Amino acid sequence: MNSYVAGLLNNLKEQNPGEEVFIQAATEIFNSLAPLIEREEKYTKHRILERITVPERSLSFRVVYTNDRGEPCVHTGYRVEFNSALGPYKGGLRFHPSVNMGVLKFLGFEQIFKNSLTGVNIGGGKGGANFDPKGKSDGEIMRFCQAFMLELHRLISENTDVPAGDIGVGGREIGYLYGAYKKITRRFDGALTGKGLAWGGSLARTQATGYGSVYFAQEMLAKKSEALRGKICAISGAGNVAIYTVEKLYQLEAKPVTISDSTGFIYDPDGIDLALLKKLKEELRVSLAEYTKERKNAKFTPVSEYPKGRNGVWSVKCDAAFPSATQNELSLEDAKTLYANGCRLVCEGANMPSTLAAIDFMLAQKDFLFGPAKAANAGGVATSGLEMMQNAQLESWSFEEVDGRLHEIMRHIFRTSYETSKEFGDEGNLVLGSNIAGFRKVADAMIDQGYV
Ligand code: NDP
Repeated sequence: MNSYVAGLLNNLKEQNPGEEVFIQAATEIFNSLAPLIEREEKYTKHRILERITVPERSLSFRVVYTNDRGEPCVHTGYRVEFNSALGPYKGGLRFHPSVNMGVLKFLGFEQIFKNSLTGVNIGGGKGGANFDPKGKSDGEIMRFCQAFMLELHRLISENTDVPAGDIGVGGREIGYLYGAYKKITRRFDGALTGKGLAWGGSLARTQATGYGSVYFAQEMLAKKSEALRGKICAISGAGNVAIYTVEKLYQLEAKPVTISDSTGFIYDPDGIDLALLKKLKEELRVSLAEYTKERKNAKFTPVSEYPKGRNGVWSVKCDAAFPSATQNELSLEDAKTLYANGCRLVCEGANMPSTLAAIDFMLAQKDFLFGPAKAANAGGVATSGLEMMQNAQLESWSFEEVDGRLHEIMRHIFRTSYETSKEFGDEGNLVLGSNIAGFRKVADAMIDQGYV
């Protein structure tokens, strides 16, 4: 990192105290951008790094709903509108007790470059609330979503800011949010994506992030004349991204053997039972501990039994790993364990699941393939972009049409990231390639649009 970029990073740390994950995301980007910034003087002249690290707008607001006992419950809601150089702000809503402004700034910042890579005209944003949907009744979820939208509706519309789901926000929550949006604004438009199929949603949106991540892994392997067929795969998470990663892996004849949630992880040597996983997580919404009741060969390891500071999933022997739960769930030690056990591919389905030290280690192994989140999990937002196109044209495309476009977008993202890594003298370093390719397009648009 050159001294100008290092100085900027120091300033960023001072100006954003306590926002460690945001600083972590910025550090990764700044590390990658150094060769571009040195080569192209215009980015320094126009102060792009200084501008791009400050959200265009961010809002936090009070959300009060009434629980089933009639008591008021108070939470904080947020929306970070980070960058609109390429299009309307686009990025999901996360409902999780760990949500705060720093977490959403990290996610919104990453989203800028990810969205740029998709080739769809969308800017970057993120939002959510420090609300835990777990253990809440349907009525409580609905009232929370309505209370949240009471404020959020002021920011969003089909061509200003278009949220979608993320951790804790799936089809059910998007439905309640959309109902409230419609009631408050009297508009039926594409202000949210991930909608139900009967009311403007897109086929294949539910599957898109998981499928996209596997398509990306396929591209990485194809470059080495390899395929997923027959590969043992470890997956973390048991939510939207993990479920459809498992589904696509089976379609490509790989064997997924782990899944995890916040209570522990499952190792199923016979291969994860996809129907059971969907039942437990999409219908019943219960802990993965329930999985072993129906699958006798499978083992559930509770979080309390993980090695200290480690993620138990990554101790399972595998050929390929798909972290698909949350940020910083794969540490340096985990990366070393995976490698020692023969794993040669990590493809990030979650946002920033690997620590900076883990990424450095994986990039340093010449026989290792690493697919960074910004590129590998962009299929979800890309398909949200396809949902926006269908809404604008009042059309509904078939599953095959959307899935085909998703697949082509993932190929395009891989090619762009790979070619850019080559251009900057580090062929195959997809962290460098995706960061530079994503950044360059946004930065050039910001220069075109003047100092705003
Ligand atoms: P879901 O809420 O559907 O699932 C999240 C899963 O991860 C759950 O199994 C959850 O367990 C587990 N999990 C969440 N936080 C933790 C934690 N702190 N420790 C252990 N396990 C945890 O979310 P998604 O599948 O939608 O999102 C997963 C990741 O993918 C996130 O990083 C998200 O930002 C990213 N992503 C999602 C996209 C999408 O389209 N949905 C698009 C691009 C990225 P439990 O159920 O017990 O809480």
